[in-house]
Amino acid sequence: MSKETFEFQAETRQLLNLMINSIYTNKEIFLRELVSNASDAIDKLHYNSLTNTELLEGNSNYEIYLIPDKDSKTLTISDNGLGMNRDEIVENIGTIAKSGTKAFLEQMQKAKEENADLSDKELIGQFGVGFYSAFMVAEKVTLVTRKAGEAQAYRWESTADGSYTIEECEKETRGTSITLHLGKEFAGEGENDFTDNWTLQNLIKKYSDYVRYPIKMAFDKEEKPKDEEGKVIEDAEPVKTTEIRTLNSMKPLWTKNKSEISQEEYTEFIKNQFHDWEAPMEIFHNKTEGNVEYTSLLYIPAKAPFNLYHTDYEPGIQLYSRQVFIMDKCKDLLPDYLRFVKGLVDSPDLSLNISRELLQQSRELKTIGKSLEKTVLKALAKKMENHRDEYEKFWEQFGKSIKIGIYNSMFGGNDTVDKLKELVLFTSSKENKNVSLKEYVGRMPESQKKIYYAAGTDMATIEKLPQMELLKEKGLEVLYLVDPVDEFAIETIRQYEGKDFQSISRGDLDLDDAESQEVKKETETIAKDNTDMIKDIKEVLGDKVSEVKVSSRLKSSAVCLVTDAQGPSLAMEHTFAAMDNPMFKARRILELNPKHDLFARLQNLHAQGKDSADFKDYCDLLYTQALIIEGIMPENPVDFANKLAKLMAK
Ligand code: ADP
Repeated sequence: MSKETFEFQAETRQLLNLMINSIYTNKEIFLRELVSNASDAIDKLHYNSLTNTELLEGNSNYEIYLIPDKDSKTLTISDNGLGMNRDEIVENIGTIAKSGTKAFLEQMQKAKEENADLSDKELIGQFGVGFYSAFMVAEKVTLVTRKAGEAQAYRWESTADGSYTIEECEKETRGTSITLHLGKEFAGEGENDFTDNWTLQNLIKKYSDYVRYPIKMAFDKEEKPKDEEGKVIEDAEPVKTTEIRTLNSMKPLWTKNKSEISQEEYTEFIKNQFHDWEAPMEIFHNKTEGNVEYTSLLYIPAKAPFNLYHTDYEPGIQLYSRQVFIMDKCKDLLPDYLRFVKGLVDSPDLSLNISRELLQQSRELKTIGKSLEKTVLKALAKKMENHRDEYEKFWEQFGKSIKIGIYNSMFGGNDTVDKLKELVLFTSSKENKNVSLKEYVGRMPESQKKIYYAAGTDMATIEKLPQMELLKEKGLEVLYLVDPVDEFAIETIRQYEGKDFQSISRGDLDLDDAESQEVKKETETIAKDNTDMIKDIKEVLGDKVSEVKVSSRLKSSAVCLVTDAQGPSLAMEHTFAAMDNPMFKARRILELNPKHDLFARLQNLHAQGKDSADFKDYCDLLYTQALIIEGIMPENPVDFANKLAKLMAK
């Protein structure tokens, strides 16, 4: 087969451009990325060989080699891991499989245009580009690989100019060799000379010391020869020899004592082991010897990965047994609402040789999982209490996970709500600050029976809702639910310390003060006196609303749209529609303000006859207004504009 040329996928091209145009100043980290890919490939081979020893081809000495060459200005990183076949090269190296890549690049572009306070580094940190970082230092990259157990090897090559080539070639040993044809400034003198043994040795010490496979390199030596007894022959000419040295200590960090580990060491380890680009927000390193013996090193990343809620985000914890790798992403250890927690567990009680399915059901794993979940939740609760600023940062990044967890517990997971409800924060009408449910209830006046909330796309919109006016005037605190999942979570919590949640746009507000009781009575009388008109308005609007009511919740606005206490709200309907699930419709109720001048006008028009064109137009305009206030586009905007124009021209 001859050489074939392929185009990079558009997003990959864009990312490559970003890499080359140097978004990341710390270029040396390319080595860490390539070494950890090599180490992953060996992990994979080892794992597959447990069920198919032939893959080892008689060689289970796992190793990674660095081969610098000053003359050709190249650096080769070579592993004897799993390798790739042709299709895998195209899939893994030619494309970026992550589904949110495009969205990520757009976000990056936008941040740039807006000169946002986000550095590229921070953004790329959420993404992680691994292999492509090679192009930060290389003008051309040649990858030669042979998949374990297969005969044919392939050479992949690219100068990052938008395309790459693949051709068949020979390779004796299994695994992958990546040769970087270094740019001028990376193969000369100085600390950025990546053909220099000492530079490379230091980088490995700095970034990859804990890689569990030996990273080896040849060192030239000049020594005087020795005689038969092993004594140096003093007057002989020195001879050149090479010596292969292992550059990394290979002692897994997690086996050391906490007190012996510096923060920098933890950070470097985590970056290396889990392909993270930033120092973590929180680290949990524990050794436990109880029923089940294990060591865990878990962490919460500084930033939520950009695809945390995409289906292609794979949560999970690495499993080891006595430092031998078992599995990369075990999903069954922690509940899904802790999907952002990363790290590893090493336990002699986990068996190496049982199937993945059995392992996932094992009692030991369940015990470990339960205790880790407790550790993380306890630490979060403590953070909220003692380091509120830090907790708010956590909440900004990962709060959504917790809220989705609460909502999902509707489908099983009975004590989830109890475990998570104290961790939840909402923005609030008071001081526009975040508030927990405990804080909200703690500062509620005694007469207040319910916890009020309002849902909408953003705070500014909610604040201007006609329904907000009355509550503001009464000084009642309202939780602002701006994340689509918020209302679902609240519906699932249902009650907090015996207090029900009450949307300002649903059902009856249930205000208890004397004035509100008075208004309620008044409203009932007005409703009774206007029964016919209300009925006729409903008739004009037909199916658009399920009910028309005289309102007791409005102050200066003429109308508002609310929904039933039961069933989905308007915001929930919107969320369902966005998920392509338009079946869940809110029961819309149009409320009219009896104190507004428009109400009297409506009464006049109605008195002239319920079939008059004006009355009908008014009804329709009122309803459409109410929709617009809620941020819902009228079904027929032209009709709305025409009716409005007609009225204005009168
Ligand atoms: P990530 O490692 O985050 O998946 P990379 O861009 O670093 O992203 O690598 C993309 C994929 O290419 C890897 O997931 C792996 O399947 C494959 N790959 C990279 N390097 C190697 C290697 N040395 N041996 C085998 N496969 C590799």
